Amino acid sequence: MSPIEDPRDDLSVTPPKKWAAGAPAVAHAIGYSLSQTSPVRTALTLLSLNQTKGIDCPGCAWPEPSHRHRNEYCENGAKHINDEATTRRVTDDFFSRHSIDELDGKSDYWLNQQGRLTEPMIKRPGRAHYERIRWTEAFDVIAEELRALNTPDEALFYTSGRVSNEAAFLLQLFARAFGTNNLPDCSNMCHESSGSALNETLGTGKGTVSLDDIYDADLILVVGQNPGTNHPRMLSALEQTKRNGGHVIAVNPLPEAGLIRFKNPQNARGMIGRGTAIADQFLQIRPGGDLALFQALNLLLLEAEDAAPGAVLDHDFIRAHTTGFAAFAEATRKVSWEDVLVATGLSRDEIEQVHQRVLGSKKVIVCWAMGLTQQKHGVPTIRELVNFLLLRGNIGKPGAGVCPVRGHSNVQGDRTMGIWERMPKDFMDALGREFDFTPPEHHGLDSVDAIRAMRDGHAKVFVGVAGNFVRATPDSLVTEDALRRCRLTVQISTKLNRSHTVCGETALILPTLGRSDRDMQASGEQFVTVEDSMSEVHASRGRLDPASASLLSEVAIISRLARRTLGQSVAIPWEKFEADYGVIRDSISRVVPGFDAFNERIMKPGGFRLPNPVNEHIFRTPSGKAVFTCNEFSMLQAPEGHLVLQSLRSHDQWNTIPYAMNDRYRGIHNARRVVLVNPEDLDELGLVDRDLVDIVSVWHDGVERRAEEFRVVAYPAARGSAAAYYPETNVLVPLDSVADISNTPTSKGVVVRLEPAHAIT
Ligand code: SF4
Repeated sequence: MSPIEDPRDDLSVTPPKKWAAGAPAVAHAIGYSLSQTSPVRTALTLLSLNQTKGIDCPGCAWPEPSHRHRNEYCENGAKHINDEATTRRVTDDFFSRHSIDELDGKSDYWLNQQGRLTEPMIKRPGRAHYERIRWTEAFDVIAEELRALNTPDEALFYTSGRVSNEAAFLLQLFARAFGTNNLPDCSNMCHESSGSALNETLGTGKGTVSLDDIYDADLILVVGQNPGTNHPRMLSALEQTKRNGGHVIAVNPLPEAGLIRFKNPQNARGMIGRGTAIADQFLQIRPGGDLALFQALNLLLLEAEDAAPGAVLDHDFIRAHTTGFAAFAEATRKVSWEDVLVATGLSRDEIEQVHQRVLGSKKVIVCWAMGLTQQKHGVPTIRELVNFLLLRGNIGKPGAGVCPVRGHSNVQGDRTMGIWERMPKDFMDALGREFDFTPPEHHGLDSVDAIRAMRDGHAKVFVGVAGNFVRATPDSLVTEDALRRCRLTVQISTKLNRSHTVCGETALILPTLGRSDRDMQASGEQFVTVEDSMSEVHASRGRLDPASASLLSEVAIISRLARRTLGQSVAIPWEKFEADYGVIRDSISRVVPGFDAFNERIMKPGGFRLPNPVNEHIFRTPSGKAVFTCNEFSMLQAPEGHLVLQSLRSHDQWNTIPYAMNDRYRGIHNARRVVLVNPEDLDELGLVDRDLVDIVSVWHDGVERRAEEFRVVAYPAARGSAAAYYPETNVLVPLDSVADISNTPTSKGVVVRLEPAHAIT
């Protein structure tokens, strides 16, 4: 394999694509896989990816259909699994050759391309390099630091959405047995707004639809979401909706290739034909305009009902299953069209067209992602889309409902397993009964509050299981400084990333098995389980020999660390858990609702679906009914000379890690420091395509946050908006700029100005 170069920006731009997938997706998937590993290992991973006895894709959380194709994965899934299955290795010799400072100067791309971590490593206080450490000593170092804390709340236990149900259950058990609910997770930065809104209105934090509902829907609104890059197999499901006669409306500030047309690589028509047109209508909305859009749609429904009483709203459903309708209706009638048109950037005619489609549809689903959740008014926006669905009884019936689409394979399951700083009392009581201890009652810290606590010296030990905390979080300079203030940072990881170069006084890298690795324990070969976006729980079995004989599984690492830290203080069978993951699942079945007979049911091919009481019209809200809410009109408006920036992923990127410097569907090549702006906005700002600018965010704390040297690209973005890649632009998102109620960073709504950059390259 050729040596890895740190790539230099060398921007070239081609017109944005008008369709996604097809033969190029297959070629890119295979090309990247073969750049990482051998043809044999590529075949092994791909043929078992998302199969009932195979490896669950560590990418997004889109579910598998009951009848699986032999190649039941997308381009990105193939890249993810073979990025993990790479034959490149990071050894202790690598760390002697590269100081931490030197590694910190490398790009995210370069760090990831070095390969799999193979040995536990430590950076001792004052040292410039990581050095090898034995596992037993590593656990001693962590246990000693944890026990030395003034209070357990000075420790943070972070989880990323790749972590299995079994490891997540053990991590939260360890944290709570230790005495803290400080369990920040990546969900705090993505769908926390969805959970907050759905719990309040429907009494569940999860989506209500299945894949069959998607196929069966008359109308699907895909809002603030780019499935072609972030949940590619969703396009196969939307293709099926279209074939069944349903319609799709895309609502987004950018036109995205996958929502225009999809060429399904699983069939000949997709490979050599024209594919399927997906969106019947595209609403190019301004960032943050979705609340106004749903308020306008709700107003139109109320007015249509006035004109034809009994013909528009589902009065039986509203009477039997909801509360708050009268107050909601009164508030909605005050919505001003003038405000709506400014907030959305849409014409009234466009919104009326959507209304007509809604009137012609008996079964409606709304799907959404970060475009809604990462806004200051993300929670009211999702509450308002629930109002929209409730009005016509589109909740709790086939082909209808809410569909928050999760971006990481087990982010939903981790929450189900108790990774939350404020789990409900029922869960905590069951946990305490199962293990004969009293879990702490006071709430813990989420991700934003965890950063504040480290910054202010209130948290001193950070333990991260998977993920890349420092690049996934906002206000990068503040976050980096916060982590550096810790006495100890611990990263349990498969591959090298930025979070290993931003160290506490002492720092540990604990290398772990990936999804593709075979997991052998004392009782034999193990599998783990995950839960997807549609509450399907299924197994994942690694197929490859582990990247190194020194690796431990996440379950083993957490179990051994817990034993070393807690000693005999709590009677928890950590050794049995490590030896046989079935013992963990037995405990889960007694603690977590919906998991009865877990070990038996998980053996069924494809696993099982967790019950969702909403689909039986059971709403676990205080009133026992679904709740109409009144949401104050709110919009995001940049002052003159400014734009509203949304951060986004490129197509050739997985979460915080670029796999290449391209964004194929958007026509961006060999560069990531680009900012996409509508040509008319560029004219008004006195800029031209390819100008070199600094992006400066404007926030009321007066701190200047600057992302330097970005190339402007004239792009068909919504007027008044800009788009640029994360994590490069996380530096612009103020830590205190969060969604009301959910505390989610507002990464899709940052007010910025573009200043000519001083350096000219
Ligand atoms: S759609 Fe998501 S889960 Fe499925 S293969 Fe692609 S990245 Fe993996």
